[in-house]
Amino acid sequence: MPNLESSEWKEIVTHLRTRFPDLMRGWFANLEPRRLHGGALTILAANPAQVRYLNAHCRQPFTEAAQAATGMLISVEFETDQPESVSVAPLSFEHESPEMMLNDDYVFGNFVTGPCNRLAHAAAVAVSESPGKAYNPLFLHGNVGLGKTHLLQAVCHTIRDRVPERRTLYISCETFTNHFIEAVERGALNQFRYRYRHVDVLVIDDIQFLGERERSQEEFFHTFNTLHQSQRQIIVCADCCPAEIPSLQERLISRFNSGLVALVDRPCLETRMAIIRKKAKLRCIEVPEDVVKLIAARVETNIRELEGALLKTDALSQTRDGIITGEIALEALGSLETRRPVTIPEIIDLVSSRYSVRVSDLQGRKRTKSVTGPRQVCMYLARELTNHSLEEIGGFFGGRDHSTVLHGCRLIAESRASDGQLNGNVEELTDLLQKGRSGGRAM
Ligand code: ADP
Ligand code: MG
Repeated sequence: MPNLESSEWKEIVTHLRTRFPDLMRGWFANLEPRRLHGGALTILAANPAQVRYLNAHCRQPFTEAAQAATGMLISVEFETDQPESVSVAPLSFEHESPEMMLNDDYVFGNFVTGPCNRLAHAAAVAVSESPGKAYNPLFLHGNVGLGKTHLLQAVCHTIRDRVPERRTLYISCETFTNHFIEAVERGALNQFRYRYRHVDVLVIDDIQFLGERERSQEEFFHTFNTLHQSQRQIIVCADCCPAEIPSLQERLISRFNSGLVALVDRPCLETRMAIIRKKAKLRCIEVPEDVVKLIAARVETNIRELEGALLKTDALSQTRDGIITGEIALEALGSLETRRPVTIPEIIDLVSSRYSVRVSDLQGRKRTKSVTGPRQVCMYLARELTNHSLEEIGGFFGGRDHSTVLHGCRLIAESRASDGQLNGNVEELTDLLQKGRSGGRAM
């Protein structure tokens, strides 16, 4: 049976690691090219879960990598010899809604604990084991990039795996308020209430955004009471403790304080080092201990930036001989430090004036092509130029989930290769934003 040369397979893996570092997983090392036949390369994975991940996220990247490595116009397919286990609940169970798109990496197994987050982690684990009983509500707070979303989603993953029939709803606060506004406009409040008040576990991310919204707060208060009275679990997180959320009503502050309020603090050096090791393993990156320490010592306040530094170091090493050294890490850190901070409102303003699209349309739900294209450009620029997570970026664009944002970013990244005009536009916008010459409201 014709197959790939082993050097071609190596090249495919290197291509993926350089161009799509976010997608790499430790288990990619065990994938096998099984056959190359009829213009299709079939890749063997260990189990159905891996095939699902590959089909959902990696088709296009693998195809691009395979074409680059072989010079042939081939497509890629994934298969496994292991049958689907009947004990695994099908992913599309009845209550799953698009908002439940969770990040596969945000599980307890990938979370490193330390003095900074031990209480928050223990509380999240307890809640995931007995929702509605352990701590209700659970309120996590801490600065950005310290693991709140990761913990919230880990609870959802665990509950979903342990008791799939339990109705769990994970959403951003933006999504909650957008749904509420839509429901009011369409006269569909009953449906809205049915949806939010008939869940077993309600998880709302970045609840601080509720502060400024009086009517949404009112609605949330009643949702909260209904769920709480019937011992259903509520979990929320915010960038500050309940009393510090601007304009949050006293009665909601006291509801939040009646459960467990746990801080997710900045990690110490040892925890940061452990996180780098964990992330490196997850993404199949070999990092010498001295480089782990070097990166951990330099990036102190935000784990997302820590991860960014690791990925940048890896990508840079791939353009050399593939070996990570302290020098390469310093170079990567240097280029990250000299970047001017760019904000999402700046991006939205600039793209809105460049493409003549209204800001409200970019941030709204419209799906016409004249809006979705520029919106995807915004998402791509936000991903490239800011430290916001996919979830947070989605929050700025009508409460979209992380996979929609990821899809938008990939589409722009791929189109840049073949569409010279788009590429030129993206380069120009990037340049303007980084130099701070974009004008607009937030500059
Ligand atoms: P937040 O919601 O607090 O802004 P996130 O949960 O989005 O932060 O975390 C940012 C990134 O840092 C994510 O990739 C997450 O997996 C990672 N992260 C944060 N804390 C930890 C931890 N203790 N262990 C492993 N990864 C972590
Ligand atoms: Mg978050």
